[in-house]
Amino acid sequence: MTDIASLYEAPALLARAGRSAGSGPDLTQGAGGNVSLKTAGGRMLIKASGARLRDVSPSSGWALTDSGLIAGRLRRGPAGEDELSDLIRSATIPVEGLPAAKPSIETGFHSLLNSAVVHVHSAYANVLNMSEEGASAAARLFPGAVLVPYRSPGAQLCSAIAVHARPSEEQVFFLAGHGLAVSHPDVDGALALNGSVNSAIRRGLSLPPYPEVPAAAGLTPHNAARLAFYGRDFMLDNVLSPDQALYCGPEALSGAAGPDVNEVLTALFYVLDCVRGLGWKPRFLSKDDVAYLGTMTGGRYARKEKK
Ligand SMILES: [Zn+2]
Repeated sequence: MTDIASLYEAPALLARAGRSAGSGPDLTQGAGGNVSLKTAGGRMLIKASGARLRDVSPSSGWALTDSGLIAGRLRRGPAGEDELSDLIRSATIPVEGLPAAKPSIETGFHSLLNSAVVHVHSAYANVLNMSEEGASAAARLFPGAVLVPYRSPGAQLCSAIAVHARPSEEQVFFLAGHGLAVSHPDVDGALALNGSVNSAIRRGLSLPPYPEVPAAAGLTPHNAARLAFYGRDFMLDNVLSPDQALYCGPEALSGAAGPDVNEVLTALFYVLDCVRGLGWKPRFLSKDDVAYLGTMTGGRYARKEKK
């Protein structure tokens, strides 16, 4: 790590990262995605679980953690789900004047990377992350990137990233069935790297423009049309990502859709449409992976709705 922020300036920097990374539904949907920033003394500010990226402000939407403690433990080897959530809880530091906040389930892997980390559920990156052909295309477009096979968010994903983590380097991670993560010594560099990777994917694959996601009661007309095309049963039986499992159950597809559901659905349909357009095949989570998400008790992936 080469550019440690002071604890005084870090909240404003984190808020800037959140606003930028959370600026559009093509990069992040609902409360997905995450930003973090390490500061002097082995501390790390990270978006709170359940907060939207664009709602992170200097005075809310984030938590302070002892990332040195978390990283120290994770570098000794994989942790189980319960151990990791206990570790993150015990490493959370109350901040005077800041509403109590639970750090994201993804705090583990952020603690292992360079000072500034931007993690988005980019629909462009997910064309690569959610298709059979995407890994080889990602390796061609980004020879230095790390391609991480699908792992459940939390301890499993953390362990998969840990073996590749280089805390002094800029890194780009493609997370299968999930999203994109970049690390950099400073916030502006991480945002620029995130932007350039997304632009290079759009250009490299000649991806179409991203659809608008208007505010709507129930499904947006675009989502209703794409759902009619793919079919409700297909969308319930074939799960591309944890976000789909979390947000797109039977009730949501039947029209009980809020803004988060519409954002997630538009991203899923964009990925499916792009994969079709490229002549590729979508890659869905296995039944075991979907079942595992249903067993998770921590973080926002603890399911409230069963299929
Ligand atoms: Zn994520």
